Amino acid sequence: MIGTAASLNQEAFNLGYYQLTPIERRLLSNILHAYLVIQLDLSMGYACVSTPCSLEDFSQWAWEQFPRLLTCFIYLWTNHRTLIGSCGEHCSKCLIVDGHQKVRRRICAFKDVKVETEEMKELVIGCCRTPVRQSRFCQLHNKETVFSVNEQSKPIVKKKRIIQKFIRRLSNRLNKKNGHLNLTGCRTVKERSDQYVKKCTRSLGIIALVSNCRIITSFSELYRSETLREIINFFAITIRVAGRLSPTCVYDDGCHLVKYIKNHIGTELVETPAMVLLRSTPISVDRSHFPNHVGVFCRKTMDPNKNPRLCCSYFPIVSSF
Ligand SMILES: [Zn+2]
Ligand SMILES: [Zn+2]
Ligand SMILES: [Zn+2]
Repeated sequence: MIGTAASLNQEAFNLGYYQLTPIERRLLSNILHAYLVIQLDLSMGYACVSTPCSLEDFSQWAWEQFPRLLTCFIYLWTNHRTLIGSCGEHCSKCLIVDGHQKVRRRICAFKDVKVETEEMKELVIGCCRTPVRQSRFCQLHNKETVFSVNEQSKPIVKKKRIIQKFIRRLSNRLNKKNGHLNLTGCRTVKERSDQYVKKCTRSLGIIALVSNCRIITSFSELYRSETLREIINFFAITIRVAGRLSPTCVYDDGCHLVKYIKNHIGTELVETPAMVLLRSTPISVDRSHFPNHVGVFCRKTMDPNKNPRLCCSYFPIVSSF
């Protein structure tokens, strides 16, 4: 099939044919996606690969297949050292967690979607569906939200705003009193304010786990903000699927993550095997972000230079990592 397409393209190019009908953007992306799905399935060793006959059914099919495909992706790339072959001496020694906030798409404005995971009874993730035309909500939440918006009467909203203003002024005054510097804790929290998240109708980018041998091993889309609970869930899914984690991890907000796990395991976080592994894995802050971390706890435990499992030679390109 690829051979035929290539020869037709070559013929059109040589004879100077031009495009008679405009290319349908969505159709083309569906075709490319179908091709990539077939490629992934074949590389995973499936003898039988199926895609929908009609491209009309593609969106629904892709929605249903996504969890399976993501599982394959995480399993394959986290274990690439044993399944494909080692990249070298330092293959899969360290995983870096980082967010990329530029890939944003329109999502439903309904933020109150809760899921139950093995670790958490209630994790608020927000709705990931695309809104219907001329609405801020998806098909599922379009009717629900019209009712709840009308329900909130204006005086209540006004009162809420006055209280929020008062709290903001109070915290500003307190910060001034403390001389702006909070030397006992790092002020590197990634979470955006609730107000911002509620108003935002775009996703907040993606977060990925990248190995030191430059391979994306796992990824997830963020629908609310980079909250610690979402990051923990992201780790938990990766560990459950892959069955392992690297000997050490690097995260630019590592201190808050480690503290949250230590303080909440056994209470808000169920002590599953994945959580036990994550708790025992040393996490450091990367060198470029470490100067911003001024907290006592952070200086003591998050220093990349003091992590015996982390070595400069893991990152030959960025030596200052
Ligand atoms: Zn590798
Ligand atoms: Zn929705
Ligand atoms: Zn810190």
